[in-house]
Amino acid sequence: MVQSSVLGFPRIGGQRELKKATEAYWQGKITVDELLATGKQLRSTNWKLQKEAGVDIIASNDFSYYDQVLDLSLLFNAIPERYTKFDLAPIDVLFAMGRGLQRKATETTAAVDVTALEMVKWFDSNYHYVRPTFSHSTEFKLNTSAGIKPVDEFNEAKALGVHTRPVILGPVSYLYLGKADKDSLDLEPISLLEKVLPVYKELLAKLKAAGAEQVQIDEPILVLDLPENVQSKFQQAYEALVGEDLPELTLTTYFGDVRPNLAAISKLPVAGFHFDFVRVPAQFDEVAAILSKDQKLSVGIVDGRNIWKTDFAKASEFVKKAIAKVGAERVVVATSSSLLHTPVDLEFETKLDPVIKDWFSFATQKVSEVVTIAKEVSGEDVSKEFAANAASIKSRTESSITTNPKVQERLATITESLATRQSPFPERLTVQKEKYNLPLFPTTTIGSFPQTKDIRINRNKFTKGTITAEEYETFINKEIETVIRFQEEIGLDVLVHGEPERNDMVQYFGEQLQGFAFTTNGWVQSYGSRYVRPPIIVGDVSRPKNMTVKESVYAQSLTKLPVKGMLTGPVTILRWSFPRDDVSGKVQALQLGLALRDEVTDLEAAGITVIQVDEPAIREGLPLRAGQERSDYLNWAAQSFRVATSGVDNSTQIHSHFCYSDLDPNHIKALDADVVSIEFSKKDDPNYIQEFSDYPNHIGLGLFDIHSPRIPSKEEFIARVEEILKVYPAANFWFNPDCGLKTRGWPEVKESLTNMVNAAKDFRAKY
Ligand code: GLN
Ligand code: ZN
Repeated sequence: MVQSSVLGFPRIGGQRELKKATEAYWQGKITVDELLATGKQLRSTNWKLQKEAGVDIIASNDFSYYDQVLDLSLLFNAIPERYTKFDLAPIDVLFAMGRGLQRKATETTAAVDVTALEMVKWFDSNYHYVRPTFSHSTEFKLNTSAGIKPVDEFNEAKALGVHTRPVILGPVSYLYLGKADKDSLDLEPISLLEKVLPVYKELLAKLKAAGAEQVQIDEPILVLDLPENVQSKFQQAYEALVGEDLPELTLTTYFGDVRPNLAAISKLPVAGFHFDFVRVPAQFDEVAAILSKDQKLSVGIVDGRNIWKTDFAKASEFVKKAIAKVGAERVVVATSSSLLHTPVDLEFETKLDPVIKDWFSFATQKVSEVVTIAKEVSGEDVSKEFAANAASIKSRTESSITTNPKVQERLATITESLATRQSPFPERLTVQKEKYNLPLFPTTTIGSFPQTKDIRINRNKFTKGTITAEEYETFINKEIETVIRFQEEIGLDVLVHGEPERNDMVQYFGEQLQGFAFTTNGWVQSYGSRYVRPPIIVGDVSRPKNMTVKESVYAQSLTKLPVKGMLTGPVTILRWSFPRDDVSGKVQALQLGLALRDEVTDLEAAGITVIQVDEPAIREGLPLRAGQERSDYLNWAAQSFRVATSGVDNSTQIHSHFCYSDLDPNHIKALDADVVSIEFSKKDDPNYIQEFSDYPNHIGLGLFDIHSPRIPSKEEFIARVEEILKVYPAANFWFNPDCGLKTRGWPEVKESLTNMVNAAKDFRAKY
């Protein structure tokens, strides 16, 4: 029998139970025990679901209250000192590291004020992990203050009658994905390997003692271009992790091509390997060739990153190739990666067009897909399932929903000049200076203001039809007015309308564009308690009518100050949707670029002449390895942005915004936006300050962390900017937060922005 395996299941719950519980806990509405009970319930549901579906290898420790990488830092005691001095409960240390903590003193407890650790993209996905942060004083040891999570969850599953395979991030990836803390910038994380290995060993021994014969050890960095001194560490690491008292390890990679690093792992003493053959089927022959005669091959064939039904016939053919190569006993049919990146269950989608719904498969369905493919290659009769699958695949291939000849014709008309502004930046700057007459150090925000409960309630009422479109519009207008008045009051220079009408910066556009389908419950974790509901690109994309003009024009009518039009860029819409897998990313991005071009032109014609086109996802789309695919991406990503933004006059000021990632200034330059704002507040590496210092157009470096409720003082802003202005020309520099303020509450937004604006005023007086 060929075994089936699921590398990880979404932990958020079918109805976002985890979000509700964690946020209630943060607000003091439920106790820690109630939160833990929700976690336990979710794990139990997920394990049972997989067991009942017939999965042979079910993961444990795929659960987390915030982030699985952060869990490991807590467990290994990689906790910067600033989080340990307050005597917080372990789970509060975890949350403080993940999201910062600011708490007033009470009679019994001291005040707490600590920023979050850096949060970065998980490879090329829209998940974000909390970056392990090491210093010379980091002392790795098993921190058992909150139990030993992987062991405890293994035992928990065992008690439910589910024998699991715990998953842990491997030592080389754990260190490599981390960084040195600001007090230890000369520290290279990978140099800590010898120190961390004994702790891994201790943890693995405890797992084995609890009855885990197998552990899934993830080394996803194997799909990156690794420096020699990191490649060479795998052998050392895994030789240290074999022993009588240790479980067998399956070394897991996903999201890419392992071939360039094969030499680093070809002699590892592990029990098996897992590769992602959805992403890179072409690596099969070479990766299979490294297996010694006892090692297993876990064949990642059901896509953990997208929502399309697996083509059973193709998948089965692929697995049979693996069986022919290494024998059925050594093959495992698996998801390509953890299913964390897919929504929980398609069955909750009651509003989807049944024709389209039939093309999709969410996490719960994917679990069954893995089992069905494993059965088929083992010779069991699943012909019914296979026939139904073939019919779905055929229906999608032949559907007219996917193809719009008009869009395809327009795509063919894209030229370089269509994607180029009328004049180069210096000339545009001259006219823009005259037109807007902004002060030195202009202040602005990134777009959204707090999405209050009131906003969500009214949006829900409108969606459900309990208030009319007119009532809803009145409500939205009132919100816009509040935001405009507030910005005027504190003295911001370039205003925004606050985005109260938007449920999400991608979904909002997806719902108005043709070629998209959207779900009612297709949530996927982005970071911590923040989930997104990505639209699905099902066909050629076009814009039936304008999407944002009404709100922007209304906002502008309230004030003499410029109000920024606010759009989400083509690459970000593509990246934060589930993309088609039947046409290239380039084609989809350019179609989106054309649709947005029409919107930009409409905004300009309506008198909105400062327009921000957000591209926070541009970095995450970067192919993980250097080479042709990456340079192609950079070309088409920049081109699609310029297609969207080049149809305007010189005097129209195009802004763009980027966050969540280590950006390369060259990629940003290629967009030729007049003003860019970049997430920055959590970068404490002075080298990073340098990186954008020769940016030729105008730039704002995010001055405070919007993921955290903490409020920086005016003095803190001043100190920060003084550092920055040592390297940046003052004439090019804008003041803004890291990102939109939608997840924050009004009180902290008011104070933070006021402090920021006052700091800018101080600087103006000085310069
Ligand atoms: N304009 C968006 C906002 O402020 C940008 C969000 C983002 O970059 N993620 O919410
Ligand atoms: Zn942002």
